[in-house]
Amino acid sequence: MKRYSRRDFLKRGGALGALAAATGGPVPVFPVPDTGTPFRAVASGNGFRATDKAMSVLRAGGDPLDAVIAGVNIVEDDPDDMSVGYGGLPNEDGIVELDASVMYGPTHTAGAVASLRNIKNPSKVARLVMERTDHVLLVGEGALKFARAHGFKEENLLTDKARAAWLRWKETMSDRDNWFPPRTADLPAEVRSVMSTHGTINCLALDAKGRLAGVTTTSGLSWKLAGRVGDSPIIGAGLYVDNDIGAAGSTGRGEANLQTCASFRIVDLMGRGLSPGSACLKVCEAIAEKTKLVPRLCDDQGRPKFGLEFYALNRKGEFGAAALYEGSRYAAHDGAENRLRESAYLFKRG
Ligand code: ASP
Repeated sequence: MKRYSRRDFLKRGGALGALAAATGGPVPVFPVPDTGTPFRAVASGNGFRATDKAMSVLRAGGDPLDAVIAGVNIVEDDPDDMSVGYGGLPNEDGIVELDASVMYGPTHTAGAVASLRNIKNPSKVARLVMERTDHVLLVGEGALKFARAHGFKEENLLTDKARAAWLRWKETMSDRDNWFPPRTADLPAEVRSVMSTHGTINCLALDAKGRLAGVTTTSGLSWKLAGRVGDSPIIGAGLYVDNDIGAAGSTGRGEANLQTCASFRIVDLMGRGLSPGSACLKVCEAIAEKTKLVPRLCDDQGRPKFGLEFYALNRKGEFGAAALYEGSRYAAHDGAENRLRESAYLFKRG
């Protein structure tokens, strides 16, 4: 893989200019979208339907929190997105454990759940933690008890496809335990397509009143240790919203994010004048730098061996995204058009 130089980066897309920022060098500037409407909805690459739905809620006069939650519910309910909600890939014991957080700009309040089992819309439970308790984060059994109290229906979230993928992983893991290796070396087609261990949806929105809201929801890293909590339900890591500045969220290896409080930092950088895309990229740089301290996480050129992506939207309606590696896309509805866009990135692949 080749490092993507700042110079290359400035060349990319033509519209990018240089900003002499407090961060000490030229960083890309993304143009302010002038679409004649203040509504915005931004999401991770798997969130095209979410931004579409969020925009329809905003246009109908809905609140941005309603908008983002309605958006991600589509993906939580979808068994074919195997990184979120129903159909999500399970932990090492074959049990689906979900994490989610919400944050609402106008009240600067947040709610989250972690390691929640049997409830397919953890984003809705996270919202209730924010709105109906004096707490911010509920985990495990307590989160499930709270969801039950609010009438959520319990169901088995493990689809056959997710179970087959898990079983394949389990049988491949060791030749010293009592599980025989897979019957065939070939990966069945239905399993092949889902063997990725990553995925999450983050969605951010801004309405005409300047209200910002965000949500992040996930089944976390597949095959994780039971009880492992990622960045998604941690305010400041997987999601952060400050109505005076902007909102940010993430997908990818949560452990790297948890140790750098990336979403908080992105919002903070936007508050210091960086554009959303530049702030995301700056945090990618910081994470790549810290990762060098942990050799097992680095490739032979000292670059992170994992993926991480960030999404940001500021209160003016500017938005952007950046990833550690090229090839990542994000969904953004700018009020006029919903489309998947290329994220900026730090390193080229190959
Ligand atoms: N960020 C999620 C987690 O670490 C996983 C992902 O987005 O791939 O739980």
